[in-house]
Amino acid sequence: MNIIFLGPPGAGKGTVAAIVKEQLGLVHISTGDLFRSNIKNETALGKQVKAILASGGLVSDEITCKMVEERLKEKDLEHGFILDGFPRTIPQADELKKFAKIDAVIEFAIPLEDVVRRLSGRRMCPSTGRIYHIEFDPPKKEGFDDETGEPLIQRDDDKEEAIRHRLDVYTKQTEPLIAYYKKEGLLKTFDASVSSKHVAQCIIKLSKGEI
Ligand code: AMP
Repeated sequence: MNIIFLGPPGAGKGTVAAIVKEQLGLVHISTGDLFRSNIKNETALGKQVKAILASGGLVSDEITCKMVEERLKEKDLEHGFILDGFPRTIPQADELKKFAKIDAVIEFAIPLEDVVRRLSGRRMCPSTGRIYHIEFDPPKKEGFDDETGEPLIQRDDDKEEAIRHRLDVYTKQTEPLIAYYKKEGLLKTFDASVSSKHVAQCIIKLSKGEI
């Protein structure tokens, strides 16, 4: 089963993907994670996109589609995949049709005010990528990772100005994909303001044809 997770940044797509992928044997492909790992490893692509990610803008459709197309050629996808953060524009969705077949698009519906609260309180362990929230999921010792003890960081694009820019980009460029996939009959909408576990359970039921 090949699924797209569609929704604003901070809607819980990554958290839900982590639960669902275990249970359904799917591979989680997050374009944001792919870009961040290129930046961390200082690859040519990483150098090209570093400033764009920090600002909260979008990497070009051409670079992004090429990266996803290459990733989908790898041999680990026999049970299918979850695309998280891709496509983010109509041209990306048009391009995706040329190299992959999608079975369902899950819309994470959440008010944008909730998203601002979630993102601005988000903190990350720099080496493991483990995510906390200062209010909803704090570490045992404030400011430090529970396992490695490292100081937690705030992603550059989780700072207030970048958050506003990311939401603006989402509304203008990504939200039109909701109508796009509705028209194709692929869209399933879930309330993402409830717990991630609940959204994950709904997706698992959907995959079994129970809803
Ligand atoms: P995310 O972790 O999904 O919030 O993505 C972090 C950043 O990576 C975004 O703000 C963009 O700069 C870049 N990015 C991720 N996915 C895409 C995409 N499909 N198209 C363009 N840029 C993307």
